[in-house]
Amino acid sequence: PLVLGIETSCDETGIALTRGLDLLTDVTASSMDDHARFGGIVPEVASRAHLESFVPTLDAALERAEVDLADVDAVAVTAGPGLVGSLTVGVSAAKALAVAIDRPLYGVNHVLGHVAVDALVHGPFPQEFLGLVVSGGHSSLLLVRDIATDVTELGQTLDDAAGEAFDKVGRLLGLPYPGGPHVDRLAQTGDPAAIAFPRGLSRGKDLARHPYDFSFSGLKTAVARVVEGYQDAGQEVPAADIAASFSEAVADVLVTKTLTACEAHGVNTVVIGGGFSANSRLRALAAERLGEAGVTVRIPPIRYCTDNGAMIAALGSAVVAAGLPPSTLDITIDSGMPLTDVLAHA
Ligand code: ATP
Ligand code: FE
Ligand code: MG
Repeated sequence: PLVLGIETSCDETGIALTRGLDLLTDVTASSMDDHARFGGIVPEVASRAHLESFVPTLDAALERAEVDLADVDAVAVTAGPGLVGSLTVGVSAAKALAVAIDRPLYGVNHVLGHVAVDALVHGPFPQEFLGLVVSGGHSSLLLVRDIATDVTELGQTLDDAAGEAFDKVGRLLGLPYPGGPHVDRLAQTGDPAAIAFPRGLSRGKDLARHPYDFSFSGLKTAVARVVEGYQDAGQEVPAADIAASFSEAVADVLVTKTLTACEAHGVNTVVIGGGFSANSRLRALAAERLGEAGVTVRIPPIRYCTDNGAMIAALGSAVVAAGLPPSTLDITIDSGMPLTDVLAHA
């Protein structure tokens, strides 16, 4: 079946078309440039941008895939989690399209989409694998037997997401927003062993209670203290060493906990998704340590790691293939949609 995927959870308007695991087209319009000068996403600006970009993005997708709207068999849309206003634009548009072409509507979970998209790139998933979703809003470790019907959340961040922590550290180091990529670049010129930053929830009782949960806010505070220490002493802040040591701490915790979960569950494939999977230290450390343990690491190309329509079309395809009942037209959005929900209910 031809599935139209619509993503508007944050600042990207993404529209894609899939047929099974075949990606026909994927078009994205981003409003990030409009937010950068505010140092963060402005929700109302994002909502309006979705409204402006929606029809042009849809038209471009249909044209590039050389299909008519009437050929679409199912409409999948991000129902959550995300920004209320942004989600509302996409879900409203998806409802209108589904009614117009008289096809089923599936309101799907954005975070699971970050995992699902990898099947479009690297082929069908194995029987059982771990999903590590790391982005600006999430850091979650999932045990996946079927992306549409059988996902267990092993853990998640108790405070900041990995990307969010990078953005905050970017600000502390005086780098432009969003700081993640800048901190990453700077880190490559620094010494990852220069400063011993804390590894959250990685020892003793904390680890026992939260084996697969993450915490990055203590780490961010530790970075702030180190930066202040240098500033108070009137010394130059060794930004590259701080960035490298901080990056090492984040990647170390993510990879260590993922490896532990692989061993505990006898799983030998890990799929990493979400915008933070662009991080070079995470990629290198995952390849090295998971690879050594005989675990296959699958990470889609960056354009499918940041928010896009393909991830939603991919999850829509999986949901259709699994024969799940469509969402009803009275679904709303769920800005805090839990990972246990693949589909939105009214
Ligand atoms: P969510 O998917 O949870 O709703 P989001 O859409 O904000 O969140 P993404 O667009 O998937 O998140 O990812 C963006 C985040 O990834 C930002 O925090 C950004 O700074 C971070 N990021 C992107 N590239 C890198 C990198 N190379 N190193 C570190 N962080 C990065
Ligand atoms: Fe996302
Ligand atoms: Mg984004």
